[in-house]
Amino acid sequence: MASPRITLLGIPIDAVTQTQAIEKLRVLVTQPGQHHVMTPNSEMLVASVRDATFRSVLQKSALNLPDSIGLVWMAKMTGQHLPERVTGVDTVTKFLTTLSPEHSVFLLGSAPGIADRAAETLMQMNAQLNIVGTHAGSPRDEDAPAIIEKIRSALPSILLVAYGAPAQDLWVDQHLASLPSVRLAMGVGGTFDFLAGTRKRAPLILQSLGLEWMWRLLLEPKRWKRIWNAVVVFPWFVLRYGKETPVSA
Ligand code: UDP
Repeated sequence: MASPRITLLGIPIDAVTQTQAIEKLRVLVTQPGQHHVMTPNSEMLVASVRDATFRSVLQKSALNLPDSIGLVWMAKMTGQHLPERVTGVDTVTKFLTTLSPEHSVFLLGSAPGIADRAAETLMQMNAQLNIVGTHAGSPRDEDAPAIIEKIRSALPSILLVAYGAPAQDLWVDQHLASLPSVRLAMGVGGTFDFLAGTRKRAPLILQSLGLEWMWRLLLEPKRWKRIWNAVVVFPWFVLRYGKETPVSA
């Protein structure tokens, strides 16, 4: 059954809890066709206003999980409701922890060696997990043919891509049709870094206060522009345009 969706800046967002999101991933991986799952956060919605291609990818994805607390707050400001923040990292980790071996997984992206370490962590969590390949690669067009070849021969049913947004989701949109074994493709951002232990999540207290962005700013000050977009530009856009795509876009 289709879940309710809300709309912010012209982008549909699924109003699901994390438990419902994991159930939806389980259903999508068994359904015919190819399904692109995205985890929009505040910066991604700002990027969607400025980039029509990225906007159309967000508008047609099978599932858009509200990855940042800003979406939950701005839904409320516009008279809509999202039950909770549903992060990509937690959702995909829990999904893989209970995945049965008939589904096979390929981890694409991150720095060299990180996806392998993430795979080891995942195998410790679920010894039955069927990981059929990992590859760092890059989102550049010239690297795509070799990456596609590698994934095609591994025959995964699930493809997780960690090139950061929007690159990872533009890559999926462009190449999913060339990867016929893949039922479910998902951009996962920094998930492999967290699983590999090279990047630390914010303490739970900061996560529950909606302040994970502040933690990331302290650890990675070069992200200030992304955080500015998330904390200042995104609320300003939503207060101005609400559910609609900004007219200038
Ligand atoms: N990344 C990559 N190639 C690139 C750009 C990024 O493999 O050209 C990887 C990066 O190493 C990291 C992941 O993409 O593992 C997510 O990057 P980022 O921190 O920007 O994503 P976020 O979690 O903030 O969405």
